Amino acid sequence: MSENRGMFTLEAAQTYLAAEPEMQAKQLSDRLWTVTDGQCRTIFVEADNSVIAFDTFGTPGKARAYKRAIENSVPGKTIGTVVYSHDHLDHTGFAADLAPEAEIIADKICAKVVKVRGAEGQLAPNRVVTGQENKISIDGIELVLLNPGPTHGSGNLSAYFAEEKLLFSSDTILDNAKYGFLPDYHIANFVKFMRGFLELEWHMFVPGRYEVSDRAAFIRGCDFIEAVQVECQNAFQEFVPIWAIEPMAGYVGEKLREQFGDMEGFEDHIGMIALRIVHHYLMGGYGLEDTPNPGVLLADEVSL
Ligand SMILES: [Zn+2]
Repeated sequence: MSENRGMFTLEAAQTYLAAEPEMQAKQLSDRLWTVTDGQCRTIFVEADNSVIAFDTFGTPGKARAYKRAIENSVPGKTIGTVVYSHDHLDHTGFAADLAPEAEIIADKICAKVVKVRGAEGQLAPNRVVTGQENKISIDGIELVLLNPGPTHGSGNLSAYFAEEKLLFSSDTILDNAKYGFLPDYHIANFVKFMRGFLELEWHMFVPGRYEVSDRAAFIRGCDFIEAVQVECQNAFQEFVPIWAIEPMAGYVGEKLREQFGDMEGFEDHIGMIALRIVHHYLMGGYGLEDTPNPGVLLADEVSL
């Protein structure tokens, strides 16, 4: 059987694409669940007559396993809506395998990237939202979708559930130091936008990876990224060879170990994190998403 292949071009990828991992689903409230394959994490919501699934997971096999986890948790109701948290294939690449008939909601910027990318299995959104806050009523559920501006990936939609006092924000702040995917973080405004979520009342935080965490861990995560930003700038004045991972791991690691060294993954990841962030200051960021007015991103270049 030939699977949808995302961006893979090699036939050998089929083995990876077809594998169906065990999913762990956990109920968070009457209507809300979180689910993980051990790497990525997302949420789904039981609506009156259907299920609202955030994201799809990153292969056809994982999408099928996600679908089964939903069926087991909410028997008798099918996925009527899929919300894309952002454009990345490891989170939203395979709606074709999860729920091909569902309505797909995404931020406009995400929708544009999905359209021009044309990855096999990543269905184009058919309901597009724009702006910093969208309140949408779907099958008895009031969704609050938030996009303060470029944080991670393209068109990143976070979701706020006032009843549960819960925030879901994919691939942004983690409950550890295991940031292995920093190239598509938009450092110019990232921490500022993430701290903006603290204006809302919530206690539980569901990230797009690893474990469910809380407000205190979220704040510490913001502090950590900000501290790396500070030490990356200091690295210039100390004439650290900023283009190499070992000197950056040594320099930033030494500066931050006392305050943040207990974070899981600190030693393994601090060099990679620092190497990415130091290049923000060297180069000025990644294109339009790191400018003071990121709203211009793909404004006229792509029409839906
Ligand atoms: Zn991502």
